[in-house]
Amino acid sequence: MSTPHRVKVALPEANSRGYEVLVGSGLFGSLASILSRFCPAHRYAVVTDDHVAELYAVRLSRMLHGAGYRTDVFAFTAGEEQKTRETWTLVTDAMMEAGCGRDTALIAFGGGVPGDLGGFVAATYMRGLPFVQVPTSLLAMIDASVGGKTGVDTPAGKNLVGAFHQPNCVIIDPELLSTLPEEHLRAGLAEAVKHGAIADAEYLAWIEQEADTLLAGDAQALSRLIVRSVEIKAEIVARDEKEVGPRKLLNFGHTIAHAIEALSGYSLLHGEAVAVGMVEEARIGERSGVTAPGTSARLRTILSRLGLPTSLPIDFSADDVIGRTRTDKKARNGRVEYALIQDVGTPVSREGRWGHPVADETVAEVLAGANGNR
Ligand code: NAD
Repeated sequence: MSTPHRVKVALPEANSRGYEVLVGSGLFGSLASILSRFCPAHRYAVVTDDHVAELYAVRLSRMLHGAGYRTDVFAFTAGEEQKTRETWTLVTDAMMEAGCGRDTALIAFGGGVPGDLGGFVAATYMRGLPFVQVPTSLLAMIDASVGGKTGVDTPAGKNLVGAFHQPNCVIIDPELLSTLPEEHLRAGLAEAVKHGAIADAEYLAWIEQEADTLLAGDAQALSRLIVRSVEIKAEIVARDEKEVGPRKLLNFGHTIAHAIEALSGYSLLHGEAVAVGMVEEARIGERSGVTAPGTSARLRTILSRLGLPTSLPIDFSADDVIGRTRTDKKARNGRVEYALIQDVGTPVSREGRWGHPVADETVAEVLAGANGNR
């Protein structure tokens, strides 16, 4: 195992403790000793999905049992459509039946779905358990596992029920990506493009340059990507843990993304929806005079290079998408807010506010005829 890279998430609020994100090849094999240091407990509840469980649960349980920890695995059916209150009920009931008490710590193990759902179980079970994030998808490694947003979707929209609950630490082993299906690797890269778009133009250029290497699953390139994305996310979360200010930037592309993800019945992957969302929100910014002309075209080029979609699915109407954006958490006083950028790598705030209210008519003009390939 190489020496892990450590990124500190320094939280600003007085009653919040900071934590570390550890990134290193082979870290998964040292899980027991990392847990004993960062999240000691008498027993561990592993919340995961059935794909990840099939690949890794036996090894994980053996490691923890071998270190003397009682460990129970709670695996639910994989997929965004399972990130619901119903699954939260199933998992928490199963934990009660297994006798998990307040001496239990939780391991949210998997992609962003087990990460968000497991984190929400940790936030709520017996009024809160300590937990660690052990992400296994690229998207979860570079984004979902860091920052303490947990929650579930509801029929009205994504992530509408949840809590901020920070993990004790995040343990990232890029070797786990060797089993990740390629479409999910691509989807994860969309969030890396977002990090470059909102904070670091050089990083974005590097992603573009290394597109083939990254898509081929090169371990070194992926490790570098994970560390840079985690640094960007950690820096933003440290400025604004509860998303009242600059953390809104991380929602770039997500107002449209959440709408089309839900409209697709979650057949569109989150990262794919974010790719389309970033292009459309850059166009909204351009139309509003906030974003430099050409920004959406630049993003489209990079995202296409990564094999990601860049335009609305053919059967989605602008009205349907706008209707869905109204239930987004980012709506304020009935007006939908967008996180916008001035140019790639440069975010933009308006009188210190990071959410830009945009009239539905402007969004409609942009989305009209935005379907299919442009
Ligand atoms: P996911 O958890 O459904 O994982 C995608 C698929 O990959 C699943 O089928 C999963 O079983 C499989 N998988 C994961 N790791 C694997 C591995 N190592 N080997 C083989 N298969 C593996 O989805 P995701 O794309 O990881 O995450 C999307 C979710 O993350 C969305 O719900 C989104 O809202 C959420 N998210 C949350 C935050 C946050 O800050 N909390 C940020 C971004 C995204």
